[in-house]
Amino acid sequence: MKLTVLCDNCSRVGAYYLSESGVSYLLEDGDARILLDTGYTDVYVRNAEKLGIDLTNLTALVLSHGHDDHTGGMIHLPRQQAGKLPLYAHPNVFDRKFYQGEEIGAPYTQEAAAEIFDLHLSEGPVQLSERLWFLGAIPRVNDYENKTPVGERLVDGKWEPDFMPEDSALVYKGADGLTVISGCSHAGIQNITEYAKQVCGDERISGIIGGFHMPTVTRQTEETVRWLSKLRPKNLRPCHCTCFHARAAIHFAVPIGDTCVADVIEF
Ligand SMILES: [Zn+2]
Ligand SMILES: [Zn+2]
Repeated sequence: MKLTVLCDNCSRVGAYYLSESGVSYLLEDGDARILLDTGYTDVYVRNAEKLGIDLTNLTALVLSHGHDDHTGGMIHLPRQQAGKLPLYAHPNVFDRKFYQGEEIGAPYTQEAAAEIFDLHLSEGPVQLSERLWFLGAIPRVNDYENKTPVGERLVDGKWEPDFMPEDSALVYKGADGLTVISGCSHAGIQNITEYAKQVCGDERISGIIGGFHMPTVTRQTEETVRWLSKLRPKNLRPCHCTCFHARAAIHFAVPIGDTCVADVIEF
């Protein structure tokens, strides 16, 4: 599996790629060319062009959740050579979302998206390639993750606190264990990882890459550090919405890798 970072909050000095607060990863495994998330703007398309990566022949688009730093760039996705691109996500991914006076959901309604994409909306896990799964709905099991809503979500005509029921992730089943690839991990990175083990029937965690949604250091960070200290994945890369202090706290216990735009990560 080859993961290329097309969008992240960080870029490296001297490389001159564009960064923004968002996520977009290209996953290439055999014939599968899967895009996870599209960042906030067209940054991922411009970085792909500079990297010589063709985004017109993808095999699937996966949306980790509905927030616009992961879905906003959908409107810039180049037209596909093979017609409607399969899109995998949780059924609530197109819900309207509101935060601090602004709409922060996906740029398309479900109906508009269905005109452009071949929608596969699923609460259950979906196998995308021989070794890659979309996890669908993540069971919220422990008592310290997914406890704070992010704004509100429109449910049956009413605005309700948004606990992001659609938040999901991917898992790759490698020879030496599983690698979890998340967007923001609003469902909780421990909840996601423990569910990935169940779905794949494998207890070994080789890597975790993606946002851990830790804008500050809280009890969630402390519990996550405790859990990771036992798990000790060899390829640990909290990025995007994981603040410096949270990454430092994790790194102090378990060494982490840096993640920036244009990085190629193989596992
Ligand atoms: Zn988010
Ligand atoms: Zn995010």
